[in-house]
Amino acid sequence: MCSNGGMRWEAQDVTVERADALPGLAKLNTFIRSVQTPEFAGVTFHEIHAKSALNKVGDSSVVPFTWTINPYRGCSHACVYCFARPSHKYLELDAGDDFDNQVIVKTNIVDALRADLAKKSWQREHVALGTNTDPYQRAEGRYQLMPGIIDALAESGTPMSILTKGTLLRRDLPRLAQAAQDVPVDIAMSIAIFDDDLQQSIEPGTPTTAARLATVKAAADMGFNVAVFMMPVLPYLTDSEPHLDAALTRIKEAGASSVTYTALHLRPGVKEWYARWLNTHRPDLTPRYRRLFGDGAYAPKHYRHELAARIKPLIRKYELAPTVEDPNTGSMGSTDSARERSASARATARDGNGEWRRTQASRQRIGESGSAGARSVALGATDHDAALPDAALPDTAAQEPARLF
Ligand code: SF4
Repeated sequence: MCSNGGMRWEAQDVTVERADALPGLAKLNTFIRSVQTPEFAGVTFHEIHAKSALNKVGDSSVVPFTWTINPYRGCSHACVYCFARPSHKYLELDAGDDFDNQVIVKTNIVDALRADLAKKSWQREHVALGTNTDPYQRAEGRYQLMPGIIDALAESGTPMSILTKGTLLRRDLPRLAQAAQDVPVDIAMSIAIFDDDLQQSIEPGTPTTAARLATVKAAADMGFNVAVFMMPVLPYLTDSEPHLDAALTRIKEAGASSVTYTALHLRPGVKEWYARWLNTHRPDLTPRYRRLFGDGAYAPKHYRHELAARIKPLIRKYELAPTVEDPNTGSMGSTDSARERSASARATARDGNGEWRRTQASRQRIGESGSAGARSVALGATDHDAALPDAALPDTAAQEPARLF
């Protein structure tokens, strides 16, 4: 069981501890310290105490869930296209290198979450993880916050979903299978780039595509319906029919249950960063991107329709269309058999000694007010992967001018 108590932090191998925090962080009365370690060269962790763990999504948001948890802000996965980059400006950090290398860590998040979940007002609504930054980024190997979060949610009868690019998810699969005995648990892996050189260039801090597919397989083998988010599809880089076909072949072979996709979009703060990468690595594409994104953040509708015409038949061909809605979470599995397989595996989840990992003690709580009371939500596209449903996107005419290509 993970603990976030003070003793654990005292035992960390801290090699640099700074009182002179970055200006924005110094304003926080919850700031603890900044930490650098040899294991994470170039990355600074800024440890803070969170006052609460559950974030309520704004009413104007199109995402299909109400509550999120973000143990980390900033993300060393460093995806050039990351939609969450602008969120880093809130502490006077920039959306570029700082987003990749200055990671905020809510060290007490498990305790804060338990306090949130204990409130009488908590309705056990679905909670989404991975909606802003990746909960299984490299920092999680050091801070180990997710096991406590998973346990706290499961023990309180709260359904959860996790979206990640991190193969560290594998560490927690037994725990998630255990949690899935008590509450709905949805897992999604983000894999959009099936060209290794391109993936290393544009997602330089992420595990390889092969490693992520292996994690999908490990989760599927444990009985989870694993969704793969092909987000974002990059115009003229990953949107050809051969690339999409090869991608879906490998996703299917890995045992995923469904695929969701969306085209790249480039909000201010992200667009600058992506344009810099494109102009450096693929200047030959700059004129074509100028035509797509020169005036705004979203690829025009004609592009999105052309992409849909290429990918949707392939998704159907590989039987990866989301078709089955979970009555509790609204998340989509691909087939009834997959859901049955999932239920079967969850029912037999045991530890390495063959012992049951958890009693069914919390089922009663869930039956009273957890699953039955949970708002129906889908495991949806999120900031984490620049993912909004295409239907929610405007055409370029409605966008702000920002010419960077
Ligand atoms: S897209 Fe996701 S994995 Fe990549 S940097 Fe952003 S939060 Fe991290």
